Amino acid sequence: MSNFKTIKIYCSGCNGRLYEYHKVGSGLLVKCYKDRIKEDYTRGDLRCPACGTAFAREGMIRGKPAHKIIQGKVYVKS
Ligand SMILES: [Zn+2]
Repeated sequence: MSNFKTIKIYCSGCNGRLYEYHKVGSGLLVKCYKDRIKEDYTRGDLRCPACGTAFAREGMIRGKPAHKIIQGKVYVKS
């Protein structure tokens, strides 16, 4: 099991909750691997459920399905 911490990801536009996520490492959040999303408050469409802002794009990173975060659209709290 790798080292991770649970972070909370919020919409920058309206402060709505998006994900709780198991983040590995201390760098800037640039992607969320789907299998590390612990709680998903969205409708699964990569948009804020409250204000509709798109905050990520579907992608593959190192062969794993991931959501690529659009910088500036979210902020994070530990
Ligand atoms: Zn929002």
